[in-house]
Amino acid sequence: MKRALIVAIWLTSTGVLAQREPLKVVATFSVLGDLVQNISRDRVDLTVLVGSDADAHSYEPSPADIITLGDAGLIVENGFEFETWLDGLVASSGSDAVRVVAAEGVEPLPAAEEQHEGEDEESHEESDPHIWHDVQQVMTMVENIRIGLVEADPANSEFYIANAEAYTAELEDLDAYIQEQVATIPEARRKLVTSHDTFGYFARRYGFEVVGTVIPSVSTEVADPAAGELAGLIDAIEATGVPAIFAENVTNPDLLEQVASSAGVTVAPALYTDALGPEESTGSTFLDMERYNVDTIVQALTP
Ligand code: ZN
Repeated sequence: MKRALIVAIWLTSTGVLAQREPLKVVATFSVLGDLVQNISRDRVDLTVLVGSDADAHSYEPSPADIITLGDAGLIVENGFEFETWLDGLVASSGSDAVRVVAAEGVEPLPAAEEQHEGEDEESHEESDPHIWHDVQQVMTMVENIRIGLVEADPANSEFYIANAEAYTAELEDLDAYIQEQVATIPEARRKLVTSHDTFGYFARRYGFEVVGTVIPSVSTEVADPAAGELAGLIDAIEATGVPAIFAENVTNPDLLEQVASSAGVTVAPALYTDALGPEESTGSTFLDMERYNVDTIVQALTP
């Protein structure tokens, strides 16, 4: 008995037993969780901090998150300041996990200029964090995650590499599907209005103009817009002649509904923007969420 215990301690300390435990992976939000899931399947123990239909911008971490991060062997984050709450949390956890920033190598899009009172001219330029709505950039994200998984768990490297390759082929198909669908919308109608500024990369890749957003920011963590800003947005919507604007699954639609009613346009069904939908919904995986989004956009903007 005593001897067995000593052997067990020795095996654990040398990593012989520890290796049989699946790698513990933490992904900050649902979209990244799904990408990790597609590459690692059942070989890791995955925890997603910000779940379906939840807003990562305004996430309030819990003490349990610190313990989860402390136990992780791999932490996957989006980057471009999407998870402003993460660094402090990781520091508190004492984590020595491998960290993957999915946005590394993605061509950044500057966040729309915002006037901050008292901010000096040399303040750093922010990048728009919503990179996952451009499927080409998601291929880069998948590559970064695959590299992190291989580093943290080399025993399963071939499995991860094969899965990443298969999933990237599905992303190629999705990218082509979005382009085909967008081509069916008359060019003058490829215009988007949403609650917050989440479709910058989508617009750049697939040829849309973002006319404006109810919350004039790439974050949802800002004050409500002033009456004058809303009046300007309503004018802009009327000038475009678009028939519909879009709610989002992570934001309250009240203000958007007021804007739609003033501009005389309809509110299209909510798009999945900064989070997947729950299980069994039309947006429970990244591939489904993007297909649903483009189908909804086509339906709402095509005469
Ligand atoms: Zn956002």
